[in-house]
Amino acid sequence: MTVKAKKHLGQHFLNDESVAQKIADTLSLQGYQNVLEIGPGMGVLTKYLVKKNITTYVIEIDPESVTYLKANYLNLAPRILEQDFLKYDLNTVFKNQPFAIIGNFPYNISSQIVFKALKMRNQIPEFSGMFQKEVAQRICSKEGSKIYGILSVLTQAFYEAEYLFTVPPNVFSPPPKVDSGVLRLTRKEDFSLPCDETLFFKVVKTGFQQRRKTLRNSLKTFNLSDNLKANSIFGKRPEQLSVQEFIKLTQLIAEDS
Ligand code: SAH
Repeated sequence: MTVKAKKHLGQHFLNDESVAQKIADTLSLQGYQNVLEIGPGMGVLTKYLVKKNITTYVIEIDPESVTYLKANYLNLAPRILEQDFLKYDLNTVFKNQPFAIIGNFPYNISSQIVFKALKMRNQIPEFSGMFQKEVAQRICSKEGSKIYGILSVLTQAFYEAEYLFTVPPNVFSPPPKVDSGVLRLTRKEDFSLPCDETLFFKVVKTGFQQRRKTLRNSLKTFNLSDNLKANSIFGKRPEQLSVQEFIKLTQLIAEDS
């Protein structure tokens, strides 16, 4: 028995055992006892995770995949969560303990997965896995790059982001239309920001809503003083600002009121 791939769930099953092993090996296993795999499907990655000296949980929305996993990974059964990762309260199982995230993720909800992980950053020291190549590159890209955006800044404010390797479509069934990319996020030693974190998220998101405009224009809704807007940082476009400069910008905006 195998699971029939369902398009609306972003199912592209990986067929290449060496790629699966390589992805499983991206985790350092330092600083946590639990790993959560998102979207295990038929368990190609899970198989390598359960061999490690770590407790593996999996969260899978597809009942057919869950049935398959329960039949083929008997020891895993109590740690299979048949849930939607985006909706499930992970502290039902992790109870505020740290855990790492891994997966060959469903590409249709890539950004939402990253945003949820960022919200739980206090508990997530490490995050690795596979996205559509462009998304993995975007998360890891630096200021000045065309693909630098909200995901890059918000992720790199808290994590070191490494693009690890590219995976071609032909090792999946069905093959996706795009290349895939594997990345690793390692939380920074000190991951508290020296500014109001809620305001930081708001500034970054608002700034990139109109990425061609200067920040003076795109941040109009903040009702900033003319004095502050004369600062040269407001003459830049969002894609030119490093994470550090976005922090500085947030500090300036906070002081302005
Ligand atoms: N890891 C497997 C499957 C990858 S396909 C492999 O490499 O072969 C993506 C998987 O994510 C599918 O199994 C799909 O059912 C699951 N998935 C999709 N949306 C999900 C969600 N919101 N929560 C949990 N799992 C989800």
